[in-house]
Amino acid sequence: MPGTLIAGNWKMHGFAADLQQIRDIVAGLPACGPRFEALICVPATLLSRASEAAFGSRLYIGGETCHPAVTGAFTGDISAEMLKDAGASHVIVGHSERRRYHGESDEDVQAQANAAIEAGLIPIICVGETLDQRESGATLEVISRQVAGSVPSGAWPDGIVIAYEPVWAIGTGRVALPEQIGEVHLFIRNLLLERFGQAGAATRLLYGGSMSPANAEAILQVAHVNGGLVGGASLKAADFLSICRIACGTRAGT
Ligand code: PEP
Repeated sequence: MPGTLIAGNWKMHGFAADLQQIRDIVAGLPACGPRFEALICVPATLLSRASEAAFGSRLYIGGETCHPAVTGAFTGDISAEMLKDAGASHVIVGHSERRRYHGESDEDVQAQANAAIEAGLIPIICVGETLDQRESGATLEVISRQVAGSVPSGAWPDGIVIAYEPVWAIGTGRVALPEQIGEVHLFIRNLLLERFGQAGAATRLLYGGSMSPANAEAILQVAHVNGGLVGGASLKAADFLSICRIACGTRAGT
């Protein structure tokens, strides 16, 4: 069974003053089993300083996207190698906001995930349906296409994380029901088992979409949910730490 990962996504939030939240998370992380991991993905401008603030602690620091190339004439872009160099251990790829506002396709996401793996980072590959897709009964078809298209073929199942994030639940306060989460997580698990054989059981599957201290326990009890990708509630150390404590209690540090 995969370990538990609670990952924060600060999106385009965070100034130097907010590094205090990182220090507070470092100071307050619960003593949990060794298979529990906590991560905060920050804007690139904060990466080095957040990594310094978390240095020597159990908090990992990650990036929010990366370019597939190592270096090159891509003004404004940041490569996975650069994230690694700045202290990142993970990088989110294919977040629905990147897919939507930057037109990133499954092919792009797969190339980014590949670059992350090559750089020694763990990619957190995001998939999820829109409300229209859910309402038209296309959820599993969309998830299947995104997993097939975004997960690199050469990936080690335990070297990647997949986050199921229904687009309609991100930043809306609307959380998917445990049955909806359970159906999609089981579906993704089966896709991974088909693709990687028994090793597919080792990939951590996160749920993301308005996770908060109020709903984390119910979500983290769902089968095949191995943690959470947390946006808004990761911006305040107190909320993020509450979710970490709930994860430790609910999943006994698995
Ligand atoms: C996210 O940014 O991936 C996310 C799930 O955001 P929120 O928790 O705010 O819905």
